[in-house]
This record gives sequence, C-alpha cells and structure tokens, in this order.
Amino acid sequence: MLQEMKERVCRANIQLKETGLIVLTWGNVSEIDRERGLVVIKPSGVGYEAMTADDMVVVNLKGERVEGNYAPSSDLATHLALYQAFPEIGGITHTHSRWATIFSQAGMSVPMLGTTHADSFHGDIPCTRKLTSEEIGGEYEKETGTVIIEAFANIPPMDIPGVLVNSHGPFAWGKDACKSVENAIVLEESAMMAWHTLALNKDAVFQQELADKHYFRKHGPGAYYGQKM
Ligand SMILES: [Zn+2]
Repeated sequence: MLQEMKERVCRANIQLKETGLIVLTWGNVSEIDRERGLVVIKPSGVGYEAMTADDMVVVNLKGERVEGNYAPSSDLATHLALYQAFPEIGGITHTHSRWATIFSQAGMSVPMLGTTHADSFHGDIPCTRKLTSEEIGGEYEKETGTVIIEAFANIPPMDIPGVLVNSHGPFAWGKDACKSVENAIVLEESAMMAWHTLALNKDAVFQQELADKHYFRKHGPGAYYGQKM
C-alpha cells in the first residue's frame, strides 16, 4: 500500500543526512494522503544508512499503525496535529539542524534579512511560546503541535512554511515530503545567515518591497520564476 509515497518519504528522510542538515537520527519526515486519511512517517530510532521504503510506517489520523514493522517516529503526534490544523500542507520535516536550533534555544524568531529567506518564507520565521509544565507532563508531542498552531493564528502556513519550537528546534512543511525537506534546508541556511548578518551589523534592514518581489515572483497567481510547464 502507498508504495510510491513510502519511497518518497524514505528518500526524503535519507536526504536529511545526505545534505548535512542533521547528525545521528535527529530528524523525521512524513507525508499525508488526504483522500485516504493516511500518513507515511519514518520509523522511530532507525538509522538512515540501511533504511528502505518498506521500513516506513503507515498510520491513520488517530495515530494507529495501519502498516509497517516498526513503531512510528515519536514525533508523530506533532505531525498529525499540524496536518489536521493546516489542510493545505502535504509533507512535514522536523530536525534539530544546528542554526535553526540555536534560534529555538534563544527563543528568537529568524528575522527576514535578505532574498534567500524571502524566496521561500514571506516574513520572519516565528518561534513559539514555551510549553507549560502541564503541557510537558501531558500529551507532550501533541501539545508541541498546539504551540505551533497558536503561533500561526494570524499567518497562512504556506506563506511561512516553517517554525521554531521554543527550546527545541524547527519544523518545516510543504506540498509534499520533498518540498518540506527543501524548506527545512532554506530555514537552516536562513538562520545561519541571519546570525552572521546580525553579528556584522545588528541594524541590518531588509526592504519589504524587495521581500514581496522575491516571494511573489515564485508564489501565487503572478509567479513568473522558473520554467513554464
Ligand atoms: Zn525534536
């Protein structure tokens, strides 16, 4: 079942390591089939080196395993909360990539300071509030989804396809698993560049009209970047 999707999700997970975005097993990618109401996600704690499409775990929207030999990623409940709250997203990547995690630990959003960032994220990449003691002691992974959803109360999730969970690390999303990995990479590079930009010039300013130009030439009805298909 869902063989192509399992292959895509497996490849996307392996990409986290191949692109140098993560070390050890500090990342997981999932994708959703909205029609069937099924999610394919990385198995928990399995190394990327020997991972195959058949190791992927298929779950329903309640988190019950429908297919697969392994337990799903322990972050599954966060992925499910986001799929339920953001109907326009199709894939999610969570990592502890270095620079994005540094901003998470500082409790800071990644400020939009240049076109590299603005091509994919139309605004600062928000950092959530801290989880409360009750949330940490309760359904922790689901509540991690809750604080993300709260941070997007006034932001369309496809305009800024990623977030920093306070004291934890980034989640990124996109139309499918592959695009969510790409956005996780852009998020990481943007965080690294923002840190260094502010170290060189703490008053660096990015013009809103240039942000709009770069974002809207790639996204939305007026987009003209790339090849016409
Ligand atoms: Zn994590």
